Amino acid sequence: MTISKRFTTTAAIAGSLALVGGLAGCGSDSGGGEGGEEGGIADSYTVVTDTAFVPFEFQEEEGGEYVGFDIDIIYEIADRVGFEVEHENTNFDGIIPGLQTGTFDIAIAGMTITEERAEAVDFTSPYYKSGLRVGVPIDNDTIQGVDDLEGLTVATRLGSTSADYIQNNIEGATANTYEQLDQAYLSVEGGGSDAVLYDAPNVEYYILTAGQDSMKAVGELIEAQDYGIAVAKGNDELVTAMNEALAEMIDDGTYAEIFAEWFGEEPEWLEDLAADQVG
Ligand code: GLN
Repeated sequence: MTISKRFTTTAAIAGSLALVGGLAGCGSDSGGGEGGEEGGIADSYTVVTDTAFVPFEFQEEEGGEYVGFDIDIIYEIADRVGFEVEHENTNFDGIIPGLQTGTFDIAIAGMTITEERAEAVDFTSPYYKSGLRVGVPIDNDTIQGVDDLEGLTVATRLGSTSADYIQNNIEGATANTYEQLDQAYLSVEGGGSDAVLYDAPNVEYYILTAGQDSMKAVGELIEAQDYGIAVAKGNDELVTAMNEALAEMIDDGTYAEIFAEWFGEEPEWLEDLAADQVG
């Protein structure tokens, strides 16, 4: 896997593809403006992302702009559906409460679709097929996978599916839960935790970048998980329109293009993802 360091061309490519998609996909009398009263789609929505779920959303430098796979995906969807994005960031565990209280309308944050969360918010169709992975100090030879974590201390993030996994599936393990992911990785690097369990793309990205001299990934992918875009309840038309845009992007190659920019290759599971779409 290679990590691409782009970011300047995406907007231009996405913009032109959105135009083509808009013209081809529209065919209605609205001239691309499906919004307003008719469609029940507002002109703009508050979109929240996580503060640092690399490579889905993060700042390349402190105080810089937010970039990432999720950011490119949501702007492409917004272009196609026809709404402006008012971008906000918050800690992962603040996202669902913020959607419930109306602080945010939409969240894209590598959020795993779970039944429990679906009671609190609505989800679009899946936009990424993920799973969990174990990371250990680079010189550790005793932990080879999740089965070796029994009775150990495992770092992860507060409010995540990994925190649930540790609690429910790893016997005798203690979950060290942190609000921010870098604290979880630091805790392994500093010896405060034996291993980290988190979303595979995040663990792998960390190991390819900041953690390349300190950590390694071990074992198989654990527990298949799908990421969905969360939308505050009561916005059915918005969810439908976003699902249509997502299905279109997967169909016309835009999705694979954005994916390749962030993950260096096309997703192995593209056909499965296409089959998951309802749009
Ligand atoms: N996919 C994980 C979850 O939903 C973590 C996402 C994140 O940290 N942004 O719990």
